[in-house]
Amino acid sequence: MHNEHDMPALAPQADDTDIDCRGCGTCCRKGGPALHTEDLALFRAGHLAPEHCLTLRAGELARDLDGQLRPLERELVKLRPRMAARGGDWTCLFLNQSDNRCGVYAHRPAECRALLCRDTWAIKTLHAVDRVTRLDVLEAWAEGAAERAGAAAGAGQSDSPDPAVPAGHVAPGGCAAPGVPWADILAAHEERCGYSVLAPVGAVGAALQRAADELRARNPGMADPMPLSEDPASPFHVADTARAVDAFLEAVRFDFAFRSLVRERAGVAMEELDFLLGRTVAATAAMYGVAVRMGADGPEVVVFPT
Ligand code: SF4
Repeated sequence: MHNEHDMPALAPQADDTDIDCRGCGTCCRKGGPALHTEDLALFRAGHLAPEHCLTLRAGELARDLDGQLRPLERELVKLRPRMAARGGDWTCLFLNQSDNRCGVYAHRPAECRALLCRDTWAIKTLHAVDRVTRLDVLEAWAEGAAERAGAAAGAGQSDSPDPAVPAGHVAPGGCAAPGVPWADILAAHEERCGYSVLAPVGAVGAALQRAADELRARNPGMADPMPLSEDPASPFHVADTARAVDAFLEAVRFDFAFRSLVRERAGVAMEELDFLLGRTVAATAAMYGVAVRMGADGPEVVVFPT
């Protein structure tokens, strides 16, 4: 996490604290940093924006410093990968993969400054301390956006396409749009799609995975819907699991609809959604040993092919 665009990729850095970094980029490929209170200044100054972030919500599985996957006790905001963890590539969006340089080196977050792979004391000390929430980031970003808009208004500049915005004034948009009740919006999403709501799915996760394993054994290489059955004679007679799958798919449908509504009503960009609402519920289906596929009648739970 210690390269800069205008510095040789593998040269020792001028900063004493970076002297041992070889610039291999390995740590940046393992994922962007979790953000801490001191990083909020980067949002106020406009060096980082909500669209650069991804939220892992409370209860979602995340890899800890020891490499183990554990459910998060609290939400975690981090710099996101380029394509929101698609294909399992968690490489930080600011890493230039061709030369291992960091696109925001001068303004990199605290964990990036603390991490030296050959001396992990500083990152372990910082790791769980003063982590920010989405509301912290939204507040800092809105404050910075308002200041920048005020400064632009003072300078008589405006790049707003909104005719309702007076000339010479730049209206903050998206996550920084004034008056949007984000706390209520995030709470409403959690109420229907939170991982505590999905606890019954987790509770029967073992049964779901056993059924998935059996289906994989029957149809290797196929991505099939799980043939859940209420028939006690069926190997897939998993009444509780069937109910859990229904609850899960209900959350998937609500999550998709809610995202569309937030985009439409609050005017947020697609890139801001993974920060505002976390990864889609569908994207986290792997937590339960299954995947979600869009079928003719909407989303359906399917089993990973072997
Ligand atoms: S911000 Fe820069 S140093 Fe930090 S993980 Fe991303 S690319 Fe690496």
